[in-house]
Amino acid sequence: MRISSIEEFPRELVPVEIPPHTVMLRGIAWDSNIYLVRDGEEALIIDTGTGVNWHVYTGIWEREGYLDGVEKAVIFNTHEHFDHVGGNRPLKEWLESKGAKVLFAAHETTAKTLEKGDDYVILAYSYGRKFEPQKVDIRLKEGDKLGIGSLELELVHTPGHTAGSSCLYLDDRETKLMFTGDTVFNGTVGRIDLPTGNGWELQESLEKLLEFEVDFGLPGHGRYIDEWRKNLTEILGWL
Ligand SMILES: [Zn+2]
Repeated sequence: MRISSIEEFPRELVPVEIPPHTVMLRGIAWDSNIYLVRDGEEALIIDTGTGVNWHVYTGIWEREGYLDGVEKAVIFNTHEHFDHVGGNRPLKEWLESKGAKVLFAAHETTAKTLEKGDDYVILAYSYGRKFEPQKVDIRLKEGDKLGIGSLELELVHTPGHTAGSSCLYLDDRETKLMFTGDTVFNGTVGRIDLPTGNGWELQESLEKLLEFEVDFGLPGHGRYIDEWRKNLTEILGWL
């Protein structure tokens, strides 16, 4: 299914294609949304849910052939929370079983937390789980570019929800996308009362995001953001 600015993302779990390179899966229950960006033999997966429902997502990718022939995959986490990183391991193993080389990527602050397995920040215990420390192969900072096939995604560091929270910007010419994690949703923002959260930093991050031209904001939970500037301006008005 393809979206346009007037259509709503459906509630049922069907893949939503955002031409030309992106597919969204809405997260089940507590899972984050999971995005796939594919170009040629390379793929990027943005966030992985809690790991409880990973086989549902891979079943859909398998059925639709979205990852057929993939040779290299990068799993990027928008931030440290367990509902975004819990599926990292099972998805890596599944991708490797398809013959892909898999690398983990994150902002350097998120990378540090994941490598320490810092459950105080990751909040694994809130989900009755434990996060095993995990090596992050690609550590990014503000302005760094992540290459997937011929595409380049720019990292925008947006602390506030957590210290490592980051967005990825994809100027795909046909469509300009911002993957926002839990920094900003449609009509609201992520919590700032969790470990390393900070309201002032979040405000500065939203002001930074206002400077980007974006057709669709693709958040970590819920439906997409189609009125990028209006959404941010309204939130900044009451924040
Ligand atoms: Zn979060």
